Amino acid sequence: QSGANDLQTKADRMVQMSICASLARKFPKVTIIGEEELPPHDVAEDLIEDGHCEEILKKPCPPQYTGIKEEELVIWVDPLDGTKEYTEGLLDHVTVLIGIAYGGKAIAGVINQPYYNYEAGADAVLGRTIWGVLGMGAFGFELTEAPAGKHIIVTTRSHSSTLVNDCIAALNPDTVIRVGGAGNKIIQLIEGKASAYVFASPGCKKWDTCAPEAILHAVGGKITDIHGNSFQYNKEVKHMNSAGVLATLRNYDYYASRIPNTVKQSLVP
Ligand code: AMP
Ligand code: MG
Ligand code: MG
Repeated sequence: QSGANDLQTKADRMVQMSICASLARKFPKVTIIGEEELPPHDVAEDLIEDGHCEEILKKPCPPQYTGIKEEELVIWVDPLDGTKEYTEGLLDHVTVLIGIAYGGKAIAGVINQPYYNYEAGADAVLGRTIWGVLGMGAFGFELTEAPAGKHIIVTTRSHSSTLVNDCIAALNPDTVIRVGGAGNKIIQLIEGKASAYVFASPGCKKWDTCAPEAILHAVGGKITDIHGNSFQYNKEVKHMNSAGVLATLRNYDYYASRIPNTVKQSLVP
């Protein structure tokens, strides 16, 4: 554990070792940035994944990406998003996030939800993988819009503050859903459970937003900081999303135009 607000479990460490070592072996020139700071040591061979996904390789690469070189890519890895909720047994809040950036932009992402369906009974398939590429679309779920005319806000469950709550109150919500994980909250948006993800606080990092951003943008949604600035994902960028998060599948302008100036002034990008 590295702090009460910032837990690290054995699962966070093992999953990051597996993902980062597997990617580094297959794509040695790619820059990989993972959330956890791990002491450098050899990763056990049984943690190395060397398979590939036929479903993805069958789809044609969007023409704007066919000339990309390996060394131009930055991969942002959150091995376990929603750790706080994981430690409390809220297993369906947990996701594994792998985001791919090119030219500072999130262009592709994977959100794996390892415990999806964990309460659905023995016949249900446990876990799912949602993925997307800009210019190709997003797959592994059913794209659904939130109920029209309702303002359903999804936000943090375990990192609230007065500012977080004041900002939500200013948006005139019909319902506020408090769940863990940035990946999980983007899933709420693309499956029509919520109309906006609003988090007026620092705390979220680039590995939390890269994969979700690529998937959300691939289906026509939008994610920015609370001021409306887009996120950058080049390798030199500051990790912290200091000015919070505002994301929607549709009607971004409605929410962006109602963020109070007092909230904006409290969050410096
Ligand atoms: P949450 O919506 O609270 O699950 O946060 C989304 C992501 O941002 C998670 O990876 C959290 O660990 C991270 N995060 C948000 N706020 C904080 C904070 N105050 N301290 C540490 N991590 C945070
Ligand atoms: Mg996270
Ligand atoms: Mg994490």
